[in-house]
Amino acid sequence: MTNIIRHPDKAASKDYDVIIIGGGIYGITLALEAGLRGKRSLLLEKGDFGEYTSFNSLKIIHGGLRYLQSLDLPRFRESVKERSWFLKHFPHQVHPMPCLMPLYGKGLKRPAVFRVALLLNHLLSPGRNDGLDDDHKLPIGGIVSVKESQKIFPLVDTNGLQGSALWYDACMPDSQLLVMELLKTACDIGTTPLNYCAVQSLITSQGGTAIEGVRALDNENGKTYEFTAPIVINSTGPWCRTVIDGVGGDREELFRPSLAWNVSFNRPALSDHALAVQENTPGSRALFVTPWKGRIFAGCGHEPWLKGPDRPMPTKDQIKFFIGELNGAIPGLDLNMSDVHRVFAGLLPTVQSGSNVLTKREVIINHGAEQGPQGLYSVGDIKFTTARLVAEKIWGIIGKNNPGMVPPDTAMPVCSKDTYPQDNATEETLQTIFAKDKSIVHFDDLIIRRSTLWEKGPDAISDDLTEMFDWDDSRKIKELDKCRATMQALVPENSFAATKNDSLRREEHS
Ligand SMILES: Cc1cc2nc3c(=O)[nH]c(=O)nc-3n(C[C@H](O)[C@H](O)[C@H](O)COP(=O)(O)OP(=O)(O)OC[C@H]3O[C@@H](n4cnc5c(N)ncnc54)[C@H](O)[C@@H]3O)c2cc1C
Repeated sequence: MTNIIRHPDKAASKDYDVIIIGGGIYGITLALEAGLRGKRSLLLEKGDFGEYTSFNSLKIIHGGLRYLQSLDLPRFRESVKERSWFLKHFPHQVHPMPCLMPLYGKGLKRPAVFRVALLLNHLLSPGRNDGLDDDHKLPIGGIVSVKESQKIFPLVDTNGLQGSALWYDACMPDSQLLVMELLKTACDIGTTPLNYCAVQSLITSQGGTAIEGVRALDNENGKTYEFTAPIVINSTGPWCRTVIDGVGGDREELFRPSLAWNVSFNRPALSDHALAVQENTPGSRALFVTPWKGRIFAGCGHEPWLKGPDRPMPTKDQIKFFIGELNGAIPGLDLNMSDVHRVFAGLLPTVQSGSNVLTKREVIINHGAEQGPQGLYSVGDIKFTTARLVAEKIWGIIGKNNPGMVPPDTAMPVCSKDTYPQDNATEETLQTIFAKDKSIVHFDDLIIRRSTLWEKGPDAISDDLTEMFDWDDSRKIKELDKCRATMQALVPENSFAATKNDSLRREEHS
């Protein structure tokens, strides 16, 4: 199996069938699906792979139970299929996750309704365990008693509790390593990856009728390259409207941003199950609390966002309100601002500008079919879980436009489990990762996106770890500072210590 190579000059001398812009989960799965069809792809990422939205998810691979509520069966089936795909191909990174929702007999949240929903969930996903390892098979869910609910979730509010719904989904605790493993697999089957290479403009034929390639600046060597290919896919998530500016026209429907965030806390997990909880007040929102790495990890806070795509982050007041909601939903929890470990924030597309109502589906634009350049495609997306499926759909559209060009896909190769091991805190393991992955350009690429060391905080990063890089002392200091600053920046305003005794309940903020 090949290692990941980063070589911009060589990359510029190669021929490609497709250029993919954006190295988040969407760009990476597009590259993977290109490779499965025998296509040579160039994957351009302006920062590091998976650095932005894809780093900040709630780390759930959704099976789509919630889509049964609206009887959106196509979406339900798609989610089940994709969850199985992840469980099958990356069993060391994606695991079954039991989930519990306390039921208080209001609206649809009644044991009788959920009994039917969970039965449907089981009956409508007959192939969900096909080809999975035994310990990755998802059992049928059901309703558990009040007593059993308390056993699973000791802090559950028993006032009016009628029992709980119990079902199984999947999680990816080290989503950044999963992203890198997907990239490694794509590289093994023909992708040329270039991180720190930002597309500055699209190149079209005279008259703008067809796409011919892209102009991109390599931030490391300062050179501008022209890469050519007959197909260019813009999968830049929150940046996707900027990338097509001047060529595809502004397509608002691709991505009207809203801010979403999750918070991990320096407090022990409440259960070994994920918990779906909600305050008992009108208009309250459903929250999900998972036991990520033994901590409380909760999401999603969600607000409108009218600023640009770079570094979105909720304000301190928004986090306070969110913690108040959590405390309201779980009496006795009493989380404080000082308990915050990390805030994971990103942008998600909504139905309307300035709203926080999420779109239901991806938007795929074939610009050539809409008076734009032939060969240019853009995607606006909504879920990590369904990224691969969306990539498959895009390749389906490309295949229709270019009969004979896209052969049927070949089998997914077995991915190597040892490139990005989860147990990676030793210097020796980090050395091994560094030796195999030449897309590690900066120190934080290694520490934050190819290891789990960042979870321990900036103080856990030893200066000695920079010794493996061929840098002079001043570069080492710069890289260490940048890495530690990035880790700090995951906590807004750096620290909430000043509000240590500030116990939060929702009514204080509403
Ligand atoms: C708080 C939160 C929680 C979530 N939880 C879940 C969850 O539990 N499960 C789930 O399935 N989904 C979840 N999601 C959704 C999921 O994270 C996103 O749908 C997904 O990560 C989007 O991936 P992407 O590749 O489109 O975007 P990104 O990861 O943002 O990637 C786009 C990339 O394009 C690059 N780029 C931009 N401009 C250029 C340029 N000019 N040249 C080169 N590169 C460029 C950027 O640097 C970036 O890396 C969550 C999202 C958020 C925000």
